[in-house]
Amino acid sequence: MRTPFVAGNWKMNLLADTAKALAVKVKEKLDGVSGVEVAVCPPFVFLKDVVEAVRGSRIQVGGQNVYTKDSGAFTGEVSAPMLKSVGCTLVIIGHSERRHILGETDAFINEKMKAALKAGLKPILCVGELLAERDAGKTEEVVRRQVVEGLKGLTAADMATVTIAYEPVWAIGTGRTATPQQAQEVHAIIRGLIRQQFGAAVADGLRIQYGGSVKADNAKALMSQPDVDGALVGGASLEVRSFADIIKNSI
Ligand code: PEP
Repeated sequence: MRTPFVAGNWKMNLLADTAKALAVKVKEKLDGVSGVEVAVCPPFVFLKDVVEAVRGSRIQVGGQNVYTKDSGAFTGEVSAPMLKSVGCTLVIIGHSERRHILGETDAFINEKMKAALKAGLKPILCVGELLAERDAGKTEEVVRRQVVEGLKGLTAADMATVTIAYEPVWAIGTGRTATPQQAQEVHAIIRGLIRQQFGAAVADGLRIQYGGSVKADNAKALMSQPDVDGALVGGASLEVRSFADIIKNSI
């Protein structure tokens, strides 16, 4: 039995005061909620405040991105040891907005996975196809490539701390959610790939989140699928009630 895992991706939203206030509200709202792992991923500049705000709760804090090197002349980048040093326990890697707006490749994403693991951060590897790829019948091919390349060189022990988020790009921020059947189909493919690559124990323990316009009213049907183990939530994580309702509906 896998514990569901719901993470909020705040993307490039909020300001110092509103980010802190949201973190405080999430902590209050989730007080006493158990049976689910919860994380929030604010922009880098708010990480310390958010870590402080949720201290004493079970809410984890993560970065939305990380660089491949630990330190050095990489202006504007943030390393895994830096994230760790401000209290992060996890990091989102390979989000579709980074793949498609900022041009991140599978090889670069793979290096980031290794950097995160080396620093002791739990990575959430995001994968998912574009609408044109789905329409061309290429969903499985695209997701397979992103999973295999993204996890290249990782060991079964590494995989114990990895989460994969399946996020069809056409469903992110569009209000158009994959049906529970569409999500389940791809999640099962991903779990099958992990089984082939890393064995049954790793595959059975791996949490695969669904992401793409998850809201309180569609969360239950998605999470009730056998291979859907939680959600990566964008827009709906910016409002405490909708985020909390998604979390409660995932248990
Ligand atoms: C995301 O940012 O990963 C995401 C799924 O966004 P949204 O929930 O807004 O579609």
